[in-house]
Amino acid sequence: MAERLGPPLAEPIFDELAIIGIGLIGSSLARAIRKQNVARRIFVADASPGALARAEALELGDAFTTDVAEAVRDADCVILCAPVGANGAIGRAIAPALKARAIVSDVGSVKGAVIAELEPILPARARLVPAHPVAGTEQSGPDAGFATLFVNRWSILTPPEGADPDAVRDVRALWEAIGSNVETMSAAHHDLVLAITSHVPHLIAYNIVGTAADLEDVTQSEVMKFSAGGFRDFTRIAASDPTMWRDVFLHNKEAVLEMLGRFGEDLTALQRMIRRGDGDGLFALFTRTRAIRLGIVAQGQETAAPDFGRRGPEGRSAGP
Ligand code: NAP
Repeated sequence: MAERLGPPLAEPIFDELAIIGIGLIGSSLARAIRKQNVARRIFVADASPGALARAEALELGDAFTTDVAEAVRDADCVILCAPVGANGAIGRAIAPALKARAIVSDVGSVKGAVIAELEPILPARARLVPAHPVAGTEQSGPDAGFATLFVNRWSILTPPEGADPDAVRDVRALWEAIGSNVETMSAAHHDLVLAITSHVPHLIAYNIVGTAADLEDVTQSEVMKFSAGGFRDFTRIAASDPTMWRDVFLHNKEAVLEMLGRFGEDLTALQRMIRRGDGDGLFALFTRTRAIRLGIVAQGQETAAPDFGRRGPEGRSAGP
C-alpha cells in the first residue's frame, strides 16, 4: 500500500511538543509531526541512551534528553510513547514540571488502565487526552519508524469525562494532520474492541508459536522448514515486542479474559464440528469469516495482494 501524507499545515498546532519514548511509535510520530509542521520544536526523551543516540543521529527532534521532566518543561503537548507499564513512573516524573494547560496524551494500546493511572498523578493544570493509533509493525526502536505509518489508519481518542474540548480538538487535529482517521469512544469500549481485534489475536499467535516450539515429535527445524503461510503469519505477530505485550495483557486483563472466554467456547464448538464430521457447519463458518476479511480489504485497512502485500519496504500492518 503506497500511502502518502497530505500537504503540511500552514501553521503549527503546537510551539513545542515532547515525545517520551522514541521507539517504533514515538519515532514514527516524530517523523510525521516534523514533515507535517505540527509543532515548531520537538523535544525527545527516552530512558535508553542508545535509543536516544539513534534518535539524534536520525534527527528525529530538536533536543534530546534522558530526563523526562526536562523534556516537558516548555511543552504545550506531551505524548507518552513508552510501553504502557512505564506510564505511571513517567507521569510521576513529569507532573511537577508540566506547564499550565499542557496537553498530556499517549499512544498506549490499552486506555482504561492508562487513564486510571495518570488521572490521579497529573496536576489539575494539565489536560489529559489519551489516544491510540491502531497502526504498527512487529518492529521496535527508533530505526523502525516511518512518517507514513498512520496514514489511512484509525486513531482512537478516549478523553476522560470532563476533558477539555480545546485539548481534544488539538489532539484530533494532530492525528488528522499526520494522515489518521480519528474516532472518539470511551476507554472501556476501546479496551473491549481492541481485546478481540488485537490483544487476543496476539495471544493466540504467541500460544501457537509456543506450542509448535514445544512439540516433542516435531523438531524445531521442521517447524521452520515446513512453515506454511498460516504459521508464518502467526510467527510475524509472535515476534512483537515482549515488554510492550506483557504490559498490554497486564493492563487489559478483564477485557482480554472476557474475550478469551468467548473464544474458548467457540473453539469447543469447532472441535465438536470436526469430531462429528459437520462439514456444512465448518463451511458456513469459513464463508462468514471470509466475508469479514473482504470487508477489511474493502475499507482500505488491508490489501488483497498475495502475502498481504507485506513484501514492500514498509511491511506495515494495522497493528496493536
Ligand atoms: P518500542 O519501539 O519498544 O519503544 C519504546 C521506547 O520507550 C523504548 O526506547 C524504551 O526504552 C522507552 N522507554 C521505556 N520505558 C521508558 C521510561 N520510563 N521513560 C522513557 N522512555 C522509556 O515500543 P513501541 O512499539 O513504539 O510502543 C510504544 C507504545 O505504543 C506502547 O505503549 C504500545 O502499547 C503503543 N503502540 C504500539 C504499537 C506497535 O505496533 N508497536 C501500535 C500502537 C500503539 P528501552 O528500550 O530502554 O526500554
